[in-house]
Formats: sequence, C-alpha cells, structure tokens
Amino acid sequence: MKAYDGMYIGGAWRPAAGQDVIEVVNPADEQVIGTVPAGTAEDVDTAVRAARAALPDWAATPPAERAARLAALRDVLTARADEIAETVTAELGSPLKFSQAVHAAVPIAVAGSYAELAATYAFEEKTGNSVVHHEPIGVVAAITPWNYPLHQIVAKVAPALAAGCTIVVKPAEDTPLVARLFADTVHEAGLPAGVFNLVTGLGPVAGQALAEHPGVDLVSFTGSTAVGRHIAAIAAGQVKKVALELGGKSANVILPTADLAKAVNVGVANVMSNSGQTCSAWTRMLVHRDQYDEAVELAATAAAKYGERIGPVVNAKQQARVRGYIDKGVAEGARLVAGGPEAPRETGYFVSPTVFADVTPDMTIAQEEIFGPVLSILKYEDEEDALRIANGTVYGLAGAVWAGDEAEAVVFARRMETGQVDINGGRFNPLAPFGGYKQSGVGRELGVHGLAEYLQTKSLQF
Ligand code: NAD
Repeated sequence: MKAYDGMYIGGAWRPAAGQDVIEVVNPADEQVIGTVPAGTAEDVDTAVRAARAALPDWAATPPAERAARLAALRDVLTARADEIAETVTAELGSPLKFSQAVHAAVPIAVAGSYAELAATYAFEEKTGNSVVHHEPIGVVAAITPWNYPLHQIVAKVAPALAAGCTIVVKPAEDTPLVARLFADTVHEAGLPAGVFNLVTGLGPVAGQALAEHPGVDLVSFTGSTAVGRHIAAIAAGQVKKVALELGGKSANVILPTADLAKAVNVGVANVMSNSGQTCSAWTRMLVHRDQYDEAVELAATAAAKYGERIGPVVNAKQQARVRGYIDKGVAEGARLVAGGPEAPRETGYFVSPTVFADVTPDMTIAQEEIFGPVLSILKYEDEEDALRIANGTVYGLAGAVWAGDEAEAVVFARRMETGQVDINGGRFNPLAPFGGYKQSGVGRELGVHGLAEYLQTKSLQF
C-alpha cells in the first residue's frame, strides 16, 4: 500500500489543497493498494488556471512541433507499457495479458495516430474568397471512467493537444494510478508545463467543479448517461461546448446466412472481454428463430469456457449491481443457460460469465446497460423484426452484423441506428470515429473526427 501525493499541475507534482484521500482497491483480492488525494474545487481552480496560462503558447506552437511532442509521448508510453499494464491490472483487475494487449497497447496506437494527424491535418483551408483557420477551442476538461482507464484519457488528451488545446483531466475514482503514471509519461515526453494537468478526486466534488469552472471551454466526458446528462445541463448553463461518450446496449445481429458458430463464439468473447465492462459490448445477440436453439447451446458452451479466465468487475458496488440484473433477468422470465447470480469466488469482485436465453426485447436485461459479463440472446422472426429489436433501445453506440457475404451485412448495418458496426467480426480501427447515436452521446472520438471536436473555425474573407 502506497500513499501517493500531489496533483500534476503546471508541469510538476504539487501538494493537494485538502487532506482527504481516495483508497484504491485491487478488485481481484480486495486489498487496498494505495491512496491518492481527493481533489477539491481549489485544486481544480489551480489546474484550470495553469491550463489557461499555457494555452496561448501551445496554441501558437506549429502543428509539426505539437506532432513531435505527441510522437515523444507515444514513445514513452511504449517504453513504459509493462508498468502501465501492471498498474491497470492492479487497480482494474483485468488479466495481465489483456492489460498488455489492450489497456497498454491501444493508447500507444491512439497517441501515434494523433502524432501523424497533427503533422498532416489541414489547419487552414481556402473556400471561395475565404481562408478558414481551424483553431483550438481552448481549455478542455476531460472527465473519464474506469473501464478502459488509460485509453479514455489518451482518446481525449492526444487529440486535444494535437489541436493546440490545453487540458485538465479528472480520472475515475477507481483507477487513478494509471492516470498518475500517464502524467509521468507526459512529463518525460517533455510537454510544456501546464499543457496537461491532472486532478484526482470524487466525481461530485472535483468532477463537478471542473465541469462548472468558467475557465473551461469544452467539457469532454465519458461515462454513464445519467452523469452525462448532468454535465450537459451544467455546460448548457454556460453555453460551453460538450462532448459526451455514454452508455450502450449494442446488438450483435446474426443473419441466417452467417457462419453461426463463428458469430456466436466471437460474440460471446466480445461480451466477456474486460469482464463485460465495455460500453460498446454486443450485449444483445439476435438470432433467427430457426437457428436459435443451436446458437443458445453454442453460447452456453463458449461462456462456460470463460469461467476461469475472466477477471473481476471493478468494485463491490458494480458486482452487486450486475448480480442484481441477473436476478432481475430470472425474475422477468429469462432462462439462465450459463453462469448466474452466485459469486464464483469468495474473495474478489467476480461475476460468473452469464448467458440468458428466451430474452424478449422489453425485459430490463435487454434494455438497460448492465456493464458486466452478461449476454442476452433474443429471437427474431425475419430481418425487419431483427432491425426493430436492434434499434429498440435508447442507446446507439455500436453493434455487429454477420452474414454470408459482406454486402448483405452492410445493407443491414446501414439501417442500424448506431455509430459503429463491425461487419463479420471486423477489427478495431483507431482511426475510425467512435461515438453514439441517440442517448449514447454527442460528438465523436478517435481519428480525424475526434480531432475536429477540439477545433473551432475562424473564417477570414478577402
Ligand atoms: P460515471 O458516469 O459514474 O463516472 C464517469 C466519470 O464521471 C468519473 O470520473 C466520475 O468521477 C465522474 N463523475 C461522477 N459524477 C460526476 C458529477 N456529478 N460531475 C462531474 N463528474 C462526475 O461512469 P463509470 O461508472 O465510471 O463508467 C461506466 C459508464 O461509462 C458506462 O455507462 C459506460 O457505458 C460508459 N462508457 C462509455 C464509453 C463511450 O465511449 N461511449 C466508454 C467507456 C465507458
């Protein structure tokens, strides 16, 4: 157990204004592994002032130089990848291999993509008798969740810095250690003081103070829809720009021509990965009635194999919440074919990989985001029915379509109300825009669209 001190503000670790701390718990064994300071409105104010003071110089730094700093950041992240993976495993509980392959590797790819984009993006364009300058929006407040703790920080910091913005990050309470490690990498990469700042703390205290701070020009939030709505209301009061990456309840649509076994196995793996704590997870599997029983059997077998390999969920509250949803699924008449509400181990916040069959679209487990290793399998009659079910939630973040040929899958995917669709198991692309339709959010992250979120245009007429 280590007591970590200070906030990273203005290019150095500085003492926190208050005395309160947040305990960081390893969800695999329930041991307290460290404490970090619980930031106050005073810490937030100091950080925002540092970001604002650094803004004019950073905004005026040529994009090629900003790109070089981001490339240096990518290189330091690469050099410290093992330390990053170990830290995420300690505070989030994900298996080390997953932490290496995803939690450490994806931020490297994203930082690298923005090093390239900063160097190549057209920050100035001509249209008719105008020259349009794409200028940084200003000081960014980034409020992030715990489920992909470093990715979600880098998916905001890298484009913000590429754009010429400066930033204050308030990471999730459960995963502040990798955020602190990131501050060290920023420092090592030689970014100018005040360009990046970190304040750890509670959402309703430090997060709220950051969202409300008049010195912030854009609030970029990733987290639950409930908190997102609250942040949007705060921002609206100040006519402040806001970007929201919120919850999801994505559909995995298996059309009758698909390779059923592959679609089901990849579908189960997608839901169980990161213990089901993925906003874009395909938590609703939609199968044609003629293939339904076979799909259920395949899914139950696949889920059972995850029993030993799956990590815990993030904390006791999340474990209780997920088990509550499993109880609710049973109570509403869904059929458990794998897993269940009982905790599979005495210590650690583990949940059994769970699969429900006979789920109908109106059930709570088919509508609400569970954020745990729980898959619902729904039956459809024909393609129109499948589309109705797929689009029948308030969310629209991601999804998947499987078919015998890609063109057939694409026709279906184009009718889905969602921001991203994987065709026949298509791979993650760090350059593709990511973000939600409907209540899954406002704005996009990653790639060139993610960069544009941090820019505003100024048109000069000649
Ligand atoms: P959360 O909304 O509880 O917390 C997210 C962040 O907001 C944390 O840093 C928290 O401290 C802060 N916060 C809480 N209350 C606040 C307040 N009043 N003012 C300001 N900040 C506040 O979400 P979570 O439980 O940490 O994360 C899980 C959620 O995140 C899920 O709903 C998931 O779908 C969503 N998510 C979405 C995406 C996406 O890209 N769309 C990605 C990952 C997670």
